[in-house]
Amino acid sequence: AKEYTKPFNDISNVLAELQSALASANRLFTILDGPVEVETGTKEYQPGQVKGEVGFEDVDFSYTKDVELIQDLNVEVSPGMKVAIVGPTGAGKSTMINLIMRFYETDAGQITLEGEPITDYTRASLRKQLGMVLQDVWLKSGTVHDNIAYGHPDADRETVIKAAKAAHAHKFITALPDGYDTVLTDGGLNLSKGEQQLLSIARIFVSVPNVLILDEATSSIDTRTEMEIQEAFLKLMEGRTSFIIAHRLSTIQDSDLILVMQDGQVVEQGNHHELIEKEGLYYQMQMARSIEAV
Ligand code: ADP
Repeated sequence: AKEYTKPFNDISNVLAELQSALASANRLFTILDGPVEVETGTKEYQPGQVKGEVGFEDVDFSYTKDVELIQDLNVEVSPGMKVAIVGPTGAGKSTMINLIMRFYETDAGQITLEGEPITDYTRASLRKQLGMVLQDVWLKSGTVHDNIAYGHPDADRETVIKAAKAAHAHKFITALPDGYDTVLTDGGLNLSKGEQQLLSIARIFVSVPNVLILDEATSSIDTRTEMEIQEAFLKLMEGRTSFIIAHRLSTIQDSDLILVMQDGQVVEQGNHHELIEKEGLYYQMQMARSIEAV
């Protein structure tokens, strides 16, 4: 895996643990070894309650006491906004996601959904409001149908097919030996990387939350599948708040808000035009035609 996918391994492990009672001993070990999750809030989000308003209010965060990362961060996101998080490896992009998902807690300040601190709610209830598509796809053993219906075991075939079509996955699924009843071996190793990712996107289409977290990087995927993934992403994001760890100039330029990160901090924020006019770091990145490095 490319270096920037590394931070997500932790998240994927935690997700796998949440999503599966069959988590392997290996994964469980990683969880037990990771940050301790002390439950604070007791409220549960109700269906439809989260419309997509997200706020960072005076947020400070660091993983270790001696290394300051995010300091005094303020970001306001209205429902439906596309937020691109950009910056070189190690800039703090996954840290932002870790905080929204509450894989880590802020040291000061708060993150809010619909104006209320996310810490008022249980983590499990929070994470159901956040649809997450990462590069590091996690599939369970079982059929293609079971994988798409995951989290909604009652979903019938019609619902599953509708979700697969929306995710541009229907075509490859129907070409499999047993179609939707094809059994995935070894966590989907009988599928290509791109197909695995399309499946994980289809899973989200079964019931799409109003806040999405997407990792745009598309390593080891053929160009056609990559285009299909892009289209599926665009469709998912329509009318929903999305945080995208973005690597493409086109995605970034089309975003409503760009968070430019460097050394753990959001050093600039605004839309493309505002940031170009500012002639700061983002402007320099654009001049160099490189989002990964300046
Ligand atoms: P990006 O996603 O932009 O590559 P990260 O958010 O992963 O960046 O990392 C930001 C900084 O925090 C880096 O200096 C990284 O080394 C550090 N970091 C990331 N995860 C941890 C962790 N679990 N413990 C300590 N430091 C971490």
